[in-house]
Amino acid sequence: MSIVSNSLKRIKPSPTMAVTSKAREMRAAGKDVIGLGAGEPDFDTPDNIKEAAIEAIKRGDTKYTAVDGTPALKKAIQKKFLRENNLSYELDQITVGTGGKQVLYNAFMATINKGDEVIIPAPYWVSYPDIILLAGGKPKIVKCDEKDQFKLTPKKLSKAISKKTKWVIINSPSNPTGSAYTKKEIEALSKILLKHKKVFILSDDIYEHITYDNFNFFTIAQIKDLKNRTLTMNGVSKSYSMTGWRIGYAAGPKEIIKAIAKIQSQSTSNPTSISQAAAVEALNGTQNFIETRANSFKERRNFVVDSLNNINGISCLRPQGAFYVFPNCKKLLGKKTKLKTDKDFVEKLLEKSEVAVVQGSAFGLDGYFRISYATSMENLKKAMDRIKSFCDTII
Ligand SMILES: *Cc1c(COP(=O)(O)O)cnc(C)c1O
Repeated sequence: MSIVSNSLKRIKPSPTMAVTSKAREMRAAGKDVIGLGAGEPDFDTPDNIKEAAIEAIKRGDTKYTAVDGTPALKKAIQKKFLRENNLSYELDQITVGTGGKQVLYNAFMATINKGDEVIIPAPYWVSYPDIILLAGGKPKIVKCDEKDQFKLTPKKLSKAISKKTKWVIINSPSNPTGSAYTKKEIEALSKILLKHKKVFILSDDIYEHITYDNFNFFTIAQIKDLKNRTLTMNGVSKSYSMTGWRIGYAAGPKEIIKAIAKIQSQSTSNPTSISQAAAVEALNGTQNFIETRANSFKERRNFVVDSLNNINGISCLRPQGAFYVFPNCKKLLGKKTKLKTDKDFVEKLLEKSEVAVVQGSAFGLDGYFRISYATSMENLKKAMDRIKSFCDTII
């Protein structure tokens, strides 16, 4: 008998991290690998935020904090929701965790009973299904089409909801596609959700600040009659280039927020005191660099999308947000090319051309791959040349 629990056997390690570690190995062996696999901004954390952390250490903010976050951070989050999303929450409707990922983990652990279904539009962020499986729930994957910009449609949502549906996950802008839902599209989904009063909504807004072309971000809790069953998750990782600080947060119904704190009290106790002080500065301090950085992401997105669409066999949408694109490589798969799946494509691309990307099937949709363009233009130029040469050799 294995020491490993049955619940652990239900899940797999993060496939994005698998690619990253393969690329790291090749690099260690002296190969010039360009990594387009990582899901984090390449920018550094702004100095004012770093200073706030240093001040916190000097001040002696180095003790346990309240389980669900320091009052100062919860107040900053409360202000953020009001300022940016026109959403008002009491402090006991807000919780802070060690990254958005832990907030999600706590939320699903605290609310899912065996057999409960969670609707996950695919392509999805790789952690959703596995967290739900670990919690004993059933991921109900709904495949979204490229012609719908990989977004969930009201029709597909309606068909997927059953008596067992506990949660529906909405992630906009999306990892891995970069697609973002307009206000109109959220309203259309809401019409379905308003009819199903027992269904809760998890809105993952982590890429809220990384949008382009004057996109107007809209989040589903802004639909008045859905706010009382929506948990809105967000965090400082992507907006403020703070992935290593591990601070995420959520706002929503008191009962869920309290349940999340109960899990946290018996696991990590609280997020790091120093990182919380830094997050206060992130949310309350200057927001100027957000636009500058988004502009530089936009320049890279345009370059990557244009380059990909110039490659034989590849086609790519131009998404509104995040720092990913999700190109279609179906024309390069099949008997003729000896590449059967997107995983074969990605593995050969890494082996032959030393560019690391992640296969679409890891995100629940075959025939695609994910590129993260959160790296320098110089790297992107080299990578696009290599992908073009690679594709030219197989077609
Ligand atoms: C990065 C990411 C998160 C959470 O990141 P944390 O660093 O844990 O806050 C959540 N959802 C998506 C879709 C992400 O890409």
